[in-house]
Amino acid sequence: MKYIDEFQDPALARRLLDEIHSTVTRPWALMEVCGGQTHTIIRHGIDQLLPDQVELIHGPGCPVCVTPLEVIDKALEIASRPGVIFCSFGDMLRVPGTGRDLFRVRSEGGDVRVVYSPLDALTIARQNPDREVVFFGIGFETTAPPNAMTVHQAKRLGIPNFSLLVSHVRVPPAIEAIMQSPSCRVQGFLAAGHVCSVMGMAEYPELAARYQVPIVVTGFEPLDILEGVRRTVLQLERGEHTVENAYERAVRPEGNPAALAMLEDVFEVTDRAWRGIGVIPDSGWRLSERYREFDAEHRFSVTGITTREPAECRSGEVLQGLIKPHECEAFGTLCTPRNPLGATMVSSEGACAAYYLYRRLDLQAAPAAPTTPLEASPVG
Ligand code: SF4
Repeated sequence: MKYIDEFQDPALARRLLDEIHSTVTRPWALMEVCGGQTHTIIRHGIDQLLPDQVELIHGPGCPVCVTPLEVIDKALEIASRPGVIFCSFGDMLRVPGTGRDLFRVRSEGGDVRVVYSPLDALTIARQNPDREVVFFGIGFETTAPPNAMTVHQAKRLGIPNFSLLVSHVRVPPAIEAIMQSPSCRVQGFLAAGHVCSVMGMAEYPELAARYQVPIVVTGFEPLDILEGVRRTVLQLERGEHTVENAYERAVRPEGNPAALAMLEDVFEVTDRAWRGIGVIPDSGWRLSERYREFDAEHRFSVTGITTREPAECRSGEVLQGLIKPHECEAFGTLCTPRNPLGATMVSSEGACAAYYLYRRLDLQAAPAAPTTPLEASPVG
């Protein structure tokens, strides 16, 4: 298959691995930012093929995992109301809130629908003018443009019964928060290629210079990951810290101008809480004043939410790369994809789910050393 098979070629993978092995002289810790990259790494055993000196630390780039519990609980509350049709991508339905999830709301009579595009939710709103239709708009810079476009369309077409429950997050402030953590061991980043295909690369040179870390924009197939690792390790061995594009087939330095213009029109930057991590300044988007009427948080006043995370769940440490999933004592016992305690076990991009899917038979739970979390305000 074009763009798949050619990036999974075993002979080329061997060559890249040989190059990495012959380049490395010292231990290096690299973080792959995106959960999609984590799944490729664990699924193909890439971390086990690298030299022992190269450690891959899994980053917080799973949109479902970092959506704060308070927002999940707000979604559950709004979806429970009579007259509301609550639309979401399927992966959010099993994410545990405080005590229940969207599947439970649906089983209790809530009208919760899975859609494949925010525009589907807009169509549902047009077909049901007497109902309030809410779309759960979560995710990184990749899902923000279509959600922005949908709100733009709702305003242009005058569809008053549509609104967006927004919890969008941005990667560069998260990289900054990781680098500022006292526990940070990351020496280089494989940046998320799909994010850069939208945003371009302009936000990264300053981060690379300030924290003296190489940042290599990387794709998602096995050869993409190996090439990202090869370039990052090469820079580290040479004492360099620049931004490189190893995903040129999808990423232009300037990004996608049409998507950027839509984001600029509809959203504004705001502080955002990340589940398990806390508030990271300027790390999210909310609807700008011009589109505030389509903001579900404004339309439905939801108050009195008291969030409660399961005490056993260490997903905050997993998301910060401080522990590996199997170092959580609940991994594979109290917490499984059927009975998840945290979102990282639910999501198709979650690190806990990746280890459960591809590694659980090889792994035994091992106690982790105590860690210091990011210095960020606690999630409310
Ligand atoms: S294994 Fe389950 S309980 Fe442990 S950190 Fe992951 S999601 Fe949380």
